[in-house]
Amino acid sequence: MDGPVVTIGEILVEIMATTLGDGFLEPQSLIGPFPSGAPAIFIDQVGKLGAPAAIVSAVGDDDFGTLNLDRLRKDGVDVSAVAVLPGAATGSAFVRYRADGSRAFVFNMRDSAAGKIAATAEAKAVLAGAAHLHVMGSGLPIPAVHGMIFATIPDLKARGGTVSFDPNVRRETLRDAEGRAAFDRVLAVTDLFLPSGEELAMFAEGAGEEDAVAHLLAAGVREIVLKRGAAGASHFDRDGRTDMPGFAVEEIDPTGAGDSFGATFLVARRAGLPVERALRYANAAGARTVTIKGPMEGTSTFAELDAFIAGAIVRSP
Ligand code: ATP
Ligand code: MG
Repeated sequence: MDGPVVTIGEILVEIMATTLGDGFLEPQSLIGPFPSGAPAIFIDQVGKLGAPAAIVSAVGDDDFGTLNLDRLRKDGVDVSAVAVLPGAATGSAFVRYRADGSRAFVFNMRDSAAGKIAATAEAKAVLAGAAHLHVMGSGLPIPAVHGMIFATIPDLKARGGTVSFDPNVRRETLRDAEGRAAFDRVLAVTDLFLPSGEELAMFAEGAGEEDAVAHLLAAGVREIVLKRGAAGASHFDRDGRTDMPGFAVEEIDPTGAGDSFGATFLVARRAGLPVERALRYANAAGARTVTIKGPMEGTSTFAELDAFIAGAIVRSP
């Protein structure tokens, strides 16, 4: 089906601590702003691969918003449905890594422009023309995002469109039953599910990976790709399972790997590539992302992915 891949959700800037440590309780040196927000990273990666791409979002009328819009436009993303809200501040995320690799965040999302995303005429126009909707779990709690997703999906499916879903949620952040119900509702209409780590077990009944996968496939999910960080990824569908080891790289900044991975797998499959090639490209996109500081700085073109794969070493499984 012709038309863009569309996603709905937060556009943020990320500002990173330059030292390891526990959070932001004392003055310290920071680097940023970098364009960010999981849906924004995802759609930037779609655009860089040359596929039609659009995002529904909102930024403030400030430098953080301009920085993001300039980047998305440059990388080929339609930003006509990104509202620039006078007087609102663009969302932000401050992040600092601890020595054990875990992250401390200070988020300004719900009270920022991202929290004020609305179903504008421009948003409705973009969604009406979508061929594919990518749902990012991090945006689901924003009421209008939630509303637009569920308003869009029935029409999209009726005209032959498809849905992908990256839950992008940690167990700690999915406490309330209402939030959980929204995730289950998206999963029920998902064609391509892109969980990472424990997210698979969170969303499927049954003990163990195989059981969880069987349950989801029986419920109508057509493809599942489980992201395994440095170890690569596994693909499951009705025909079976394909494991693809990751590429051996030095991890500088893991943020954004899952988003560029998902976008690359989706674009490759939409272009008709077989599962193995799509997985290899997606692993390459994820691996490139982690070698570069800044969540959106490591998104890739197909030419960059081909060059990376040609020179890369696959991690032994
Ligand atoms: P995010 O933090 O963006 O939400 P995620 O948890 O969704 O990430 P990961 O499994 O961490 O997803 O990473 C996605 C993909 O990126 C992996 O499946 C792998 O292909 C690649 N990747 C991530 N980390 C590394 C690494 N250290 N070395 C090589 N490849 C990596
Ligand atoms: Mg993720």
